[in-house]
Amino acid sequence: MVAQRIDGKAFAAGLRAKIASQVAALKDEHGITPGLAVVLVGDDPASQVYVASKGRQTVEAGMNSYEHRLPADAGQAELLALIGRLNADPAVHGILVQLPLPAHIDENEIINAIAVKKDVDGFSVANAGRLATGQRGAMVPCTPLGCLMLLRDHLGDLSGKNAVVIGRSNIVGKPMGALLLGDSATVTVAHSRTKDLPEVVRGADIVVAAVGRPEMIKGDWIKPGATVIDVGINRTEKGLVGDVDYASAAEVAGAITPVPGGVGPMTIACLLANTLTACCRSNGLPDPEGLTP
Ligand code: NAD
Repeated sequence: MVAQRIDGKAFAAGLRAKIASQVAALKDEHGITPGLAVVLVGDDPASQVYVASKGRQTVEAGMNSYEHRLPADAGQAELLALIGRLNADPAVHGILVQLPLPAHIDENEIINAIAVKKDVDGFSVANAGRLATGQRGAMVPCTPLGCLMLLRDHLGDLSGKNAVVIGRSNIVGKPMGALLLGDSATVTVAHSRTKDLPEVVRGADIVVAAVGRPEMIKGDWIKPGATVIDVGINRTEKGLVGDVDYASAAEVAGAITPVPGGVGPMTIACLLANTLTACCRSNGLPDPEGLTP
């Protein structure tokens, strides 16, 4: 079997176009322009690239982008004061604090200071709790939301499917598990202490790999015909690779996302989706169509 390649780049482009047309309609019909504020502390090169790319795509979707750059030695109080101003600013519908923050900053306190409705990364305790308890109105973390969209697009109904998520981080693994449960999949969240991981993965109709170890998941771990979503982004001597050994997995899987060009482009597209959703909610409008779980 040669797996179908799930083209996240094309899907994300379609999603961005859909968001741009919904943004244009929001402006026309209600005179509202969604606004996203991105906060960057310090000068980590990778974070700078991410922030620039988020700003560019926000503007391309017709939204306002506000960038706030603070020096690496900015203090907790200064950052909290900025979050407070952004929380109170009616032109700002979404707030994203680029992680990781410098070690002297209490990351959790900062994330939880963001107004729940403006927490477009969905990392706050309030939004994680809403997602975990299946309450409406959660802002859902962008990367797992993007994975869910790709899975639904490829498989349709996920109900009753065996899903194995590898990785239990708060930004990918845990919310991914909650989203799959919400779609009535039978979910296993595996992690670094899981015993006989290859055997666990062999039972999966859906594999979501979010480990951060280059090409760890091999083709002979994959059930024939399974759908494989590779979240991993690992910089190696041979370039960017995922957590899945693409060449061997593609011989067995039914479908698989490549790295790059799979999950990666979905993450920023879902950030734009969350910003539009947050804007609609803050203006008492219904959720935009097709952008929330
Ligand atoms: P993380 O380091 O916070 O979590 C990794 C998880 O993998 C942990 O829960 C750990 O228990 C598990 N793990 C580690 N070694 C393992 C092993 N040998 N067997 C089984 N499980 C193991 O990472 P994260 O933030 O969740 O990110 C995971 C990967 O996804 C990274 O490569 C990251 O760069 C990538 N990522 C991509 C996007 C995107 O937009 N595509 C977004 C976020 C993260």
